[in-house]
Amino acid sequence: MSAPADSEPLLLRVDHAACCRSGACSLVAPDLFDQGDDGKVVLKNPRPPAHLREAAEEAADYCPVSAIRVDPPTG
Ligand code: SF4
Repeated sequence: MSAPADSEPLLLRVDHAACCRSGACSLVAPDLFDQGDDGKVVLKNPRPPAHLREAAEEAADYCPVSAIRVDPPTG
C-alpha cells in the first residue's frame, strides 16, 4: 500500500526563465519562495518537508506562467 501523497517528500522546481516577477508565489508560500533583487523567484528549499505540499501546490496554481512544478523526488 503506497503512502498518502501528503506524507511523501517534495521536490520543487522553478523555471527562472519563465518567471514574470509577479510575486504570487512568495505571497502564497513565503516559507518556500522569495523574490530576488531582480524580482524573479528564489526557491528557498527544493526539498521542503511534506507538510508544505499544500502551500507549494497552491503557489504553483497561482503562478501566472506555470513556472513552478511540484513533484515527488526522483531519488
Ligand atoms: S508566481 Fe510564478 S511568475 Fe510569479 S514570482 Fe513566482 S515563479 Fe515567478
